[in-house]
Amino acid sequence: SRQIAHGGESTLEIAGRRIGGGVFATIAGPCTVESREQTLSTARIMQDVGVQFFRGGAYKPRTSPYSFQGLGRDGLKILAEAKAETGLPIVTELMDVRDVEAVAEVADIIQVGARNMQNYPLLTEIGRSGVAALVKRGLSATLEELLMAAEYILKEGNPNVLLCERGIRTYETATRFTLDIAAIPVLKEQTHLPVVVDPSHAAGRRDLVLPLSMAAAAAGADGIIVETHPEPEKAVCDGPQQIRASEFGDYLRQVEAAAALA
Ligand code: PEP
Ligand code: MN
Repeated sequence: SRQIAHGGESTLEIAGRRIGGGVFATIAGPCTVESREQTLSTARIMQDVGVQFFRGGAYKPRTSPYSFQGLGRDGLKILAEAKAETGLPIVTELMDVRDVEAVAEVADIIQVGARNMQNYPLLTEIGRSGVAALVKRGLSATLEELLMAAEYILKEGNPNVLLCERGIRTYETATRFTLDIAAIPVLKEQTHLPVVVDPSHAAGRRDLVLPLSMAAAAAGADGIIVETHPEPEKAVCDGPQQIRASEFGDYLRQVEAAAALA
C-alpha cells in the first residue's frame, strides 16, 4: 500500500484514499458519535463537500469520569452505517486493547489519542491488527517520543501510520493547547510518514480553527483532522471548537487553497 513519492515521503493508500507525499487529505466529523441522526447528517455533508475520511469517537477519553464517555459498541454501529451510506472511510479512537477487534471491524484508520500515545500494549495490538493508525502526539510528548510510539506499530509489520500534531501543554492559556507548527517540518525531515494536524483540539475555539489549519497546510502538513457538528451549541463535547457543518465547505476551500501553496 505504500509508494515512495517525492522527497522520500510516502503516499499511503487507505481504503482507496491517498494521503502524504504531496497529497493533502481532510479527516472531518464530530468529536463524538452522539446519535444516528447527528452522525449521519454530518457524514452526508462531509461527503458532499469533498472530505476524504470521516472521524467520530465511540470511545471518548474524558478528563472527568462523570462526563459522557461515548456510545461504545452502539457508536461503532452508527459509524458503520455512515460508512455504508456515504462510502467515507472511518477514523475512530481505540482506547482499550479489549476493544481492538470491534474497532478494527469498523475503522479504516484507528486513532490513538494523545493520552494513550505511550500505551505500548495498545500500540502493539494496533500494529498486529493490520489496520492503519493515526497516532496523536501526547500532551507533553517530544517529537522523538511520538516517533518511537509510531515505531511500536511499524515494528509489527503495519506500515500505514499517520503522525498527528494536536497541540502541546505550555504556559499559554489563550488556546486550549499550543499548536507546534515547527513539528511539521521537523517530523517531515525525520520520517517518510504523513504528518496530520488537528487544529480543533489545539485551538479549543472555533474562530482559531481556520487560521491554524491554513498555517498547518502552508507549512506542509499532509492533512488535517478537524471537528464539525450540525449544531455545535448542542454538542455533547467540544462544542466551542466544532465548525458548524453547514459552514464546512467554505472553511475547507480556504484550507485547500493554503495547501496548494505548500
Ligand atoms: C479526539 O480527537 O477526539 C481527541 C480526544 O483528541 P486528543 O486525543 O488529541 O485529545
Ligand atoms: Mn474532541
